Amino acid sequence: MCWMSGRLTRDEALRLYRSAPTSQLGRMADDARRARHPDGIVTYIIDRNVNYTNVCVAKCRFCAFYRDVGSREGYALSFDEIYRKIDETMALGGGQLLLQGGHNPDIPLGWYEDLFRGVKSRYPDFRLHALSPPEVIHISRLSRLTVPEVIDRLVAAGLDSIPGGGAEILVDRVRKLLHCDNKATADEWLGVMRHAHRKGLRTTATMMYGTVETMEERIEHLFRLRELQDETGGFTAFIAWSFQPEHTELGGVEATGVEYLRTLALARLVLDNFDNLQASWVTQGGKVGQLSLAYGANDMGSVMIEENVVRAAGAEYCMDEFEVVRNIESAGFIPKRRNMHYAVLGDPIFRERDVPRMLELAVARADGRAGEGSDLQAYEARSAAMRRARQHASIAASSLAPSDRPAAD
Ligand code: SF4
Repeated sequence: MCWMSGRLTRDEALRLYRSAPTSQLGRMADDARRARHPDGIVTYIIDRNVNYTNVCVAKCRFCAFYRDVGSREGYALSFDEIYRKIDETMALGGGQLLLQGGHNPDIPLGWYEDLFRGVKSRYPDFRLHALSPPEVIHISRLSRLTVPEVIDRLVAAGLDSIPGGGAEILVDRVRKLLHCDNKATADEWLGVMRHAHRKGLRTTATMMYGTVETMEERIEHLFRLRELQDETGGFTAFIAWSFQPEHTELGGVEATGVEYLRTLALARLVLDNFDNLQASWVTQGGKVGQLSLAYGANDMGSVMIEENVVRAAGAEYCMDEFEVVRNIESAGFIPKRRNMHYAVLGDPIFRERDVPRMLELAVARADGRAGEGSDLQAYEARSAAMRRARQHASIAASSLAPSDRPAAD
């Protein structure tokens, strides 16, 4: 049976997803992957996924990670904590942070600029893949600047590229039901990426499926990405993952592994203008992640050093560089380290020099250590909860006898 006539249309994509046998869909995606990557190389990156704050006003119904403003479990990392994470990442051969967080009303644009400048002055070659489109929109609303102005300021401070988080499904009916239309409508998410691409930044694109969307809406998401890529060519890669329901308000059950592989294969066929598709082994586990390489993926994403978001919703898969490489090689491919632009950097670093293995996933903060990082106090608090908390802290400090006060450092 002939499934497509030239470039895939929405109707053909739907028919393929609904009716093509999984093995056939996989073969078609594998052929498309091989046409773009005939050398048999599968790439991965060593970077660290750092969530600088879990305080968020967006309250997406699918999220188990966020805490309300004023929550005792809320945190915002200090610059020193983030620098320490960079040191650890570099020791493992990494050269980039994926830096994302909640929409914290008490973190102003100046905090991000100071952090980025601090990182670049200490680690000039280290890359900042930071702030998904909804975070950029949140900062633009807080600072009363336009999105292009915010991107300009962040780039001047050291932003290198933008991660594609917060796309979920780019259809507003779905976004309303998930309570994520306020953080960014479909057009707003695409608008940030369009501005970023026009300014020469490269970005990734994502899709979180398996919540309330129909198959037609999942396909619409892919086509909206394909259309923007036709216009700008700024996306480096596409990453799909399934909704992780544990501890979320939305709840429900997770999509199966076969549904993941079919969705990935379909994405490879629709997104004929994307070079790279990542395997989401963080949500699917190493074994399905490895199978993804036969269903259109040509990249294993990041080795895992730290994860907080999907872990909060129940996913606990962890692979260090050694494991990622073992999975790539046993699937018959050649593993290569890459950077954010998908330029190959070399062979596995553990074959070049001794690097510590890291099988335990790090988290943003050790349990029970919430609170704002000390340098955030230098910026004006915007939320009533934070202003009250700071007032109580200063009253408590001034009521201590001088000998009980902590020494300034
Ligand atoms: S997904 Fe992001 S924006 Fe939504 S509630 Fe969670 S941290 Fe906030």
